[in-house]
Amino acid sequence: MGLFTVFIAVLGVIFGSFLNVVIWRLPRRESLVRPGSHCPSCNKPIRFYENIPIVSFLFLRGRCSSCKARISWRYPLVEFLTGLALVLIFLTYGFSPITLAYSVLALFLIPIGFIDWDTGFIPDVLTFPAFIIGLILVFSLGISNWKSVLIGSLGAGGILYLIGFIGRILMKKESMGMGDVKLLVVLGVYLGLKGALLSVFFGSLAAMPLILISMALKKLKLKDHIHFGPFIAIGTGVYMIWGESIVKGYLNLLAP
Ligand SMILES: [Zn+2]
Repeated sequence: MGLFTVFIAVLGVIFGSFLNVVIWRLPRRESLVRPGSHCPSCNKPIRFYENIPIVSFLFLRGRCSSCKARISWRYPLVEFLTGLALVLIFLTYGFSPITLAYSVLALFLIPIGFIDWDTGFIPDVLTFPAFIIGLILVFSLGISNWKSVLIGSLGAGGILYLIGFIGRILMKKESMGMGDVKLLVVLGVYLGLKGALLSVFFGSLAAMPLILISMALKKLKLKDHIHFGPFIAIGTGVYMIWGESIVKGYLNLLAP
């Protein structure tokens, strides 16, 4: 298990390196394969040994080797997060179908979270494949059945749509994007209704302090549109890894 965990970690940061490309290029409608990686500042192509996840960033001290422009710390962060997510999922579920399905979901949620954070928009080119691949995975691996998938995706998407609808009436303004609703449909496929709703709940708890701080600093008004994608992604991560223990712990508190 130990050696395999290292393998998963390495695989994770390599996937993370590709997710960086997705996060940067997808909203700009650039090709994911061509041209190869280049410095956004001086356009110098990045050599393969300067493109080793995390290691190169540390080695180059976060600067382009040619023009010395700062490289965003987000690159190593995304690589680290991806590696961490896959390792935690593997350590939680071992060699199982769940590990495979949850890892795939994580690989979609990381770019979805970052792109929504940047642009306020969750691209269909991510949610739609996540949905189709999710259906294939949960059925072929026997993780779920059509009934829970149907209830999960329609229920979770429907409830979020309803929340958005009520929000629109109360605030007289779009409060929740259709992207969030589609994301919940995807979560319903992988996690079922309970898992999807708990993920949103955990995500809201994660968003709450940030929203309150921003409002206190007057950087956010009640009427502002909140990009909920990153928090749904965080909440889903929490659910996938600690969800069952949190629920069990909570039930034990209620009935010791
Ligand atoms: Zn440069």
